[in-house]
Amino acid sequence: MARIRLNHVSKRWGNFIGVDDFHLEIEDQEFLVLLGPSGCGKTTTMRMIAGLEDPTEGEIWIGDREVTGLDPKDRDVAMVFQSYGLYPNMTVWENIRFPLKVRKVPEAEHEARVARAAAMVELEDFMHRKPAALSGGQRQRVALARAIVREPQVFLMDEPLSNLDAKLRVSTRAQIKNLSHELKVTTIYVTHDQIEAMTLADRVVVMKAGVVQQVGTPTDIYDNPANTFVAGFIGSPAMNLMQGEIVDGTFQGENVSVPGLVGASGEVTLGFRAEDAEVTEPGQGQINAQVYSMELLGDATMVTVRAGGTLVAVKAAKDYRAEIGAPVGIALPEGITHLFDAQTGQRL
Ligand code: ATP
Repeated sequence: MARIRLNHVSKRWGNFIGVDDFHLEIEDQEFLVLLGPSGCGKTTTMRMIAGLEDPTEGEIWIGDREVTGLDPKDRDVAMVFQSYGLYPNMTVWENIRFPLKVRKVPEAEHEARVARAAAMVELEDFMHRKPAALSGGQRQRVALARAIVREPQVFLMDEPLSNLDAKLRVSTRAQIKNLSHELKVTTIYVTHDQIEAMTLADRVVVMKAGVVQQVGTPTDIYDNPANTFVAGFIGSPAMNLMQGEIVDGTFQGENVSVPGLVGASGEVTLGFRAEDAEVTEPGQGQINAQVYSMELLGDATMVTVRAGGTLVAVKAAKDYRAEIGAPVGIALPEGITHLFDAQTGQRL
């Protein structure tokens, strides 16, 4: 069982707080993704789990063992980084075998374990090559195999796909997802790419400036963002956000009026997703706007409109066409809007 517990973990350097009171239990075999913009503390959190960084406060548990203060080598975790960290003078076979040698695993087991790990990431044909003679994607697979061969309790992966081109990233992503299921190893995966997070994660932790903003399944986070930061970070495009005020159950803002919002009042931020809204005739719908740009997505057209000073994205049918600057209405079907406190950004 490799449940991981972070018990009120913080990391400070002087007055600067890199990670602030991270408190979470990660389930055995869970695939947890730490997501957030550059500098939000994802890597520091993972380095503390790995033992590469000591927390200033709090405890870290792996399984039923407290590991705070233990050396990385005593934690039974395997790491995969964005820079592959392969030994250039060793062949692929030797690179994958290396952790077994360091851990003094009996030689008799090496051949079979290396072969099994290599097969999982389809490297069998490259075993005698050195890293310099491999593509970026192949090197990343060697790094994965080297983590797999250890059969650790925990995988820690820090942006392992970021050096790969877009196409390879998608196929390697699928492979990582598949491996984690097959190997049944608890995995913590760091990325700033929300699509990677949404496709891989059982649960996502969204972080900002060292503070956890929300923990939830990809669906939770997409459908019920806890605040405007999460709403504006998740989804492509991110959720549309408009400023205004609710008076007598009607949201009023620049070029927008949405009735039927009983229960809230005062200054709020109204949110809605591009795919939940509809482009309609001028004067109809709840928003008056002009077409600003159109992007053809293949299966749909993403129409960006300007409503006063706010740009709003709306997904339309793939054959939708309009002149740039043409007036349009935007209809918001009942029940699709999200409301956030205008000051705190918290979901209402
Ligand atoms: P990125 O996606 O850019 O890697 P991140 O979310 O992984 O970002 P961290 O590397 O965890 O961010 O860094 C969090 C914050 O802590 C950053 O502002 C960083 O500058 C700071 N930080 C990291 N290491 C140190 C250190 N050794 N001393 C002081 N500050 C540090």
